[in-house]
Amino acid sequence: MFPIEEFKKLRTPFYYYDTDLLRQTLKEIRANTDPYMHVHYAVKACANPKVLGIIAAEGFGADCVSGGEIQAALNAGFPADRIVYAGVGKSDWEIELGLDAGIFSFNVESIPELEIINHLAVLKGKKARIALRINPNVGAHTHANITTGLAENKFGIDMQDMERVIAIASAMDGVEFIGLHFHIGSQILEMDDFAALSRRINEIQDRLETAGIPTVSDINVGGGLGINYMQPDHNPIPDFRSYFSTYRKNLRLRPGQQLHFELGRAIVGQCGTLVASVLYIKSNPIKNFCIVDAGMTDLIRPALYDAYHHIENLTAESPSDYVTYDVVGPICESSDVFIKNYGMTRTRRGDLIAFRSAGAYGEIMASGYNCRPLPLGYTTEELK
Ligand SMILES: *Cc1c(COP(=O)(O)O)cnc(C)c1O
Repeated sequence: MFPIEEFKKLRTPFYYYDTDLLRQTLKEIRANTDPYMHVHYAVKACANPKVLGIIAAEGFGADCVSGGEIQAALNAGFPADRIVYAGVGKSDWEIELGLDAGIFSFNVESIPELEIINHLAVLKGKKARIALRINPNVGAHTHANITTGLAENKFGIDMQDMERVIAIASAMDGVEFIGLHFHIGSQILEMDDFAALSRRINEIQDRLETAGIPTVSDINVGGGLGINYMQPDHNPIPDFRSYFSTYRKNLRLRPGQQLHFELGRAIVGQCGTLVASVLYIKSNPIKNFCIVDAGMTDLIRPALYDAYHHIENLTAESPSDYVTYDVVGPICESSDVFIKNYGMTRTRRGDLIAFRSAGAYGEIMASGYNCRPLPLGYTTEELK
């Protein structure tokens, strides 16, 4: 499935994006959404311009968390009126960029932020469409570092403050209150978590209605759908049918309400692979180290979240000869380990190694630590 002969001509490490799979994934999302459902790709998962260009060309919106991402989305061709912008710490220039571009909505996370957006919009004689990001206090069955919807997390506005914040927003000249926004975490595979969020949104809508607050036009449930890191080839396209039908079944939308999603990982995760070369095999009495030329600077998820990436030797000589390795990078940090005690086909210097499921939070998190050059990204089209 990988163009290995083409890989051999490239300098490693690099990212490879299977754009056929990306297009199929986008098609599957289309097939499982209704016209009132709007999917905004979470740019933070992967902002490779070629990947962004494909997603924009297929008609999706963008979910941004910084001014840089708004700029990247606009450059890639996402229409401003399909861009939503979240984040607890929006700088003035970022808000101004969003106002000037005319983005669809600012997902507001606090009263001080609301006041600044209002102030900057009034100065420009504009009205900012805003959705309030509510912290629904719904847990997700995922890694503790990537839950976002609990009261202890820094994100969003507390439910007990909702009515007060809505009253403040509704009295402002520079903002138009259009929606409620939620996002409970990432790499979520339990549909029950999304059902729980739906039920919480139902309660919230009922409560606001009882308080005499007019119905909003837009509900945004965020993203968070996970992928299968253990078996990347098993179902390379996530189960979008179950995902969207969970919301269809559990969320009671009011007439005319539009439903927004912000999917990142589920769109690009399985499309990306980090390809590295084996530099050295080093053994001591208790370990075999497979030292590769990619490190935590290229793919930080294992060091940061203890994440698992399926590793394959793409150029193994004898596919049945298994050896146990610690696969490590060249960075001067003890945490620069991709995996310990990993059974893999016997490797030699020069073998090409694939780190699978690296399309999301991979290339975009690369750093120049140790003065390393950033990895390049190639697509299927480019290597044909
Ligand atoms: C990160 C993020 C997303 C995307 O999360 P995935 O797990 O990649 O789907 C969506 N919305 C917000 C507000 C985010 O911060």
